[in-house]
Parts: sequence; structure tokens; C-alpha cells
Amino acid sequence: MAARILEGKVYAQKLKEDAGKKAAELREKYGMAPGLAVIIVGENPASQVYVRNKHKSCEELGISSEVISMPEESTKEELLARIDDLNGDTKIHGILVQLPLPKQIAAYEAEILNRIAPEKDVDGFHPVNVGRLVTGEAGLVPCTPAGCIRMLDMAGIPLDGKRAVVIGRSNIVGKPMFHLLLARHATVTVCHSHTANLAEITREADILVAAIGKPNFVTADMVKPGAAVIDVGINRIAPKKLMGDVDFEQVKEVAGAITPVPGGVGLLTVAMLMQNVVKAMEMQMQA
Ligand code: NAD
Repeated sequence: MAARILEGKVYAQKLKEDAGKKAAELREKYGMAPGLAVIIVGENPASQVYVRNKHKSCEELGISSEVISMPEESTKEELLARIDDLNGDTKIHGILVQLPLPKQIAAYEAEILNRIAPEKDVDGFHPVNVGRLVTGEAGLVPCTPAGCIRMLDMAGIPLDGKRAVVIGRSNIVGKPMFHLLLARHATVTVCHSHTANLAEITREADILVAAIGKPNFVTADMVKPGAAVIDVGINRIAPKKLMGDVDFEQVKEVAGAITPVPGGVGLLTVAMLMQNVVKAMEMQMQA
């Protein structure tokens, strides 16, 4: 039987509606909307599209949004100074620096991202937020893996006691996904480029998350019949053609549920960012 297709649009819409409602409540209570500042350095066309999408989502949901465009040749010091200003601005509750950074400052990426105050770090990349995720304290969690968990919940796919396998161990997706699944009482294995007998491990998964960055990497023989397959991969194989990490056509015949690419997890990431901005304001107002 063909798998249930988990449409990102449906779940992203729910997450956005929820963020919009909470934003309205916060405006009412504090006389101020949640505020996001996005810093973009340089003219990277893909980054400009991402930043525009984030700004548009904010506008739709009553979240105030400021886009700070800095010239391509900006120095590390100039960027850090902008972050310091935003850290001290009480109308701004979330800050993010759009990646990638131009080459003269790319080597300082960690130092730059770590300058964002942890309570305003709506990407959830700051070591303080990573530590909170690992120890189970309240904090801001990276948007993509958090969105995957919310989608699984909304789709009614249980996690407690299930076998979950994550392929990929990046700081942005794989590792936080591991901690989120563990926190929900799944038994989790993380696989990566050095994993031996990968297919043997993935075939045990009730929930299989692919975050690799290789088109059609996960094939039908790697999937347990009835598993939920979450494809985080976004691979641009032609100027207008995106592909996931999962061989969708084949795997959908084996899986119980599957996310498409495009139209799957990607849409949840911006929706979760909106949720994080609202959550950041709530936490700052209660501090
Ligand atoms: P990354 O390059 O940092 O990590 C890739 C991971 O895949 C690594 O940990 C590596 O060990 C693993 N890997 C590589 N080859 C492998 C192999 N042969 N077998 C097993 N594991 C292997 O990438 P990332 O930032 O985690 O992103 C992964 C994918 O997810 C990319 O396609 C990226 O574009 C996409 N992504 C999507 C969203 C979204 O919003 N949907 C967000 C972030 C990343």
C-alpha cells in the first residue's frame, strides 16, 4: 500500500496560525509585537530569497520584522557591533544572521553566531541553547528538527518506545534531531558517513530521518515496511529542480508515511522560526 504523504503545507499552516495567535496575545498583553531582526551580509541571491520569505511570514502573522542588509565587504567587527546593538534592543526578541557569510568573515562564523544573546538566538545554534537541548532545559531549538517533531506529532505518529534512525550528524539537523527524538523516548541511532552496514540499521527504523545532502540516497531496500520517512534533504539538481535525500517514488511504496521534496520539511522551517520568535519573546517577558 502506498504511503501517506505528509504535506508540509498543511502542517506549516497550522504552526503559523498558532504563532500568529500567540503573537496577537503578546501584543495585547505587552503592547508590543514580537520582533525579529535578520542580518544579511552581501548579495547572495538564494539568501535574499530566504530572507524575503522570513520577512513575508512575519508580516502575515503580526510579527515585526527588520531586515538589516550589510555590504558584502563588511568586517567581522562591523557585524559584531550590529549584533551587539540588536542584543540591547528591547523591541527585538529574535536575531538571526543569514548564512553563508561572505568569504572574508566566513572563518569567524562560530564567533559571530555565538555573539547573539542566547535568549534571542531563534536559530537555536548558540552553545547555551545546545546545552539546554541536551540537558532537557527550556531553550530555543533549531527550527528544522523542531519542525519535524511537530509534524510527526500533528500526523499522529507515535515516538515513545519506537526505533528512530537519523542519517546525518550536523549541528543544524542531525544532532538536534537525535536529542529531540531521545527526549520523546524514542530509541535513537545516528548514522553518518563512516557508518558500516547502513541499510541494516535503517531497516530497523520505525521513524527514519534523512539529513545527508545527497539526492535519492535512501532507497526502498533501506526502509522498513510501514516506517515514517522524513526527508530533510534539499538538493538542487537543476536551476529549478529540487530533490530530497530519499528516492520518493520507490520509498513511498514501502513506507507508511513520507514527506515530499519540495513541499515537505522545508516549509516547516520558516513556520518553526515564527514559533521561535514568539517563544523567545515569551521567555524574555517572563525572565
Ligand atoms: P551536512 O553536510 O552538514 O551533514 C550531512 C551529514 O550527512 C553528515 O553528518 C554526514 O556524516 C552525513 N553523510 C554524508 N554522506 C553520508 C553517507 N554516505 N552515509 C551516511 N551519512 C552520510 O548537512 P546538513 O546541514 O545537515 O543538511 C543535510 C541536508 O538537509 C542538506 O540537503 C540540506 O540542504 C538540507 N537541509 C534542509 C533544511 C530544511 O529546511 N528542510 C534545513 C537544513 C538543511
